[in-house]
Amino acid sequence: MEHALLNYVNGQWTRSQAGTYLPVMNPATADVLTTVPLTPAQEVDAAVQVAAEAFQGWRRIPATDRIQYLFAFKNLLEENLDDLARTITEECGKTFNESKGEFRRGIENVETACGIPSLMQGYNNEDIASGIDEHMIRQPLGVVAAITPFNFPGMIPLWFLPYAIATGNCFILKPSEKVPTTSHRLFELLEETGLPAGVVQLIHGGKETVDALLDHPVVRAVSFVGSTPVARYVYERAAATGKRAQCQGGAKNTVVVLPDADLDMTTRIVADSAFGCAGQRCLANSLAVTVGAAREPFTEAIAEAAATRRVGYGLADGVEMGPVITAESKTRIERLVGVAEQEGARVLVDGRGGQVDGFENGYWVFPTILDGLPLDGEIANTEIFGPVFGLMHVESLDDAIALINRKAYGNMACLFTSSGAAARQFRYEVEAGNVGINLGVAAPMAFFPFSGWKASFFGTLHAQGRHAIEFYTQTKVVVERWPREWSRVF
Ligand code: NAD
Repeated sequence: MEHALLNYVNGQWTRSQAGTYLPVMNPATADVLTTVPLTPAQEVDAAVQVAAEAFQGWRRIPATDRIQYLFAFKNLLEENLDDLARTITEECGKTFNESKGEFRRGIENVETACGIPSLMQGYNNEDIASGIDEHMIRQPLGVVAAITPFNFPGMIPLWFLPYAIATGNCFILKPSEKVPTTSHRLFELLEETGLPAGVVQLIHGGKETVDALLDHPVVRAVSFVGSTPVARYVYERAAATGKRAQCQGGAKNTVVVLPDADLDMTTRIVADSAFGCAGQRCLANSLAVTVGAAREPFTEAIAEAAATRRVGYGLADGVEMGPVITAESKTRIERLVGVAEQEGARVLVDGRGGQVDGFENGYWVFPTILDGLPLDGEIANTEIFGPVFGLMHVESLDDAIALINRKAYGNMACLFTSSGAAARQFRYEVEAGNVGINLGVAAPMAFFPFSGWKASFFGTLHAQGRHAIEFYTQTKVVVERWPREWSRVF
């Protein structure tokens, strides 16, 4: 087990006593890159105890000093960007440019959290009654944890870590066991910043590790990103021990194309959204609803874009799309395309069984277009999480909005149009937390909340921005009276 990944506990790289280590694969080659421990509950407990102790010192360090570590971290991320991006491509499969792009969004969160001295400020009133003043102070919670998915190994941990520690908490990350090496690299850089021991800890693992964090009475808050069934489970189990929880789940994002949309721009942007990161983005467009006369030209153009997308190893020049994450994922995606056919959809572009020369063992699914999906069928309502794009057709914007609002998920909805009135109606009526107008991936900047709705989110406060500050702090209200007669007055 020489190359097995280590946990990072109490400022030390620590070998887990786990009975099981899983292989971490390069999805383009099926080569084993390393192995990752499924850390057992007693080691989670030890890390939580360390964090609880470290918290007593860390919360007393002024916020202006705490953020110096984040400034240093940001610089290290910039200096190591190419190396980090290569790590993501190797274990996650996305193209090198996509990997760099995701890190950019991660770094943006570190930058935003550097504003904590202002962002964390409270508020107050003098004389709420005669001679009585009232203050609201934000204080950190203590030990907090995040559980993250495979599809953004660099960015998603940074939706949480910078805000959690800047506000004075101690933070434990349990990254996806499919892509743990990127987190390992992140923690090497965090170590270089000289952060005090116990402020951040990295615990690899799977379900047992997650359950140990969820059940631990000392862990005060849990951030989760992953599939909807697990998000719901984490939310419920975290509540059982009185934790705060913000749980981001899956998606089935619909884009509406009106006849007045710019066809070339729409096609290019929608194809990037649907097939970028091999369709494994929670903000991927996976369904298009064309309205009226948009049907024919858009169907033709998107089919052409799908058929001509260059698929291959993410580190090779000119590649626009990598493999999907695992062999199981490939099998599941190809099976769901078969289900769509049985439901009556036409497979306009069939990406099943795709092969890349020199990478015969890779988990390839090429871009796929399904036309005429039945509205209430399985596929129109299932998150496929692969490069499979479905087309549906209606006669009005009202019908398109109604179709979206019937769906269980509410992560993102997009509209392509040149009409301001249509855009306003869509923005106003659509039931989704992230909305794109003439955009295919409406990913909020770090200083806005990542606002999934419905089955795409369980909780109240989302990741990023001001929501993150509120999530990681508890408010304390102090009402005080200082009569003059009690004090010596000079
Ligand atoms: P996943 O739910 O399988 O795993 C996410 C995390 O939960 C991992 O760390 C995993 O180890 C852990 N986990 C898995 N099963 C568990 C269980 N039964 N009990 C406890 N922990 C468990 O998700 P994934 O396949 O890694 O990621 C893809 C999913 O994430 C997609 O559904 C995608 O839409 C979603 N996602 C959502 C967002 C968002 O912001 N809403 C962002 C990225 C990804």
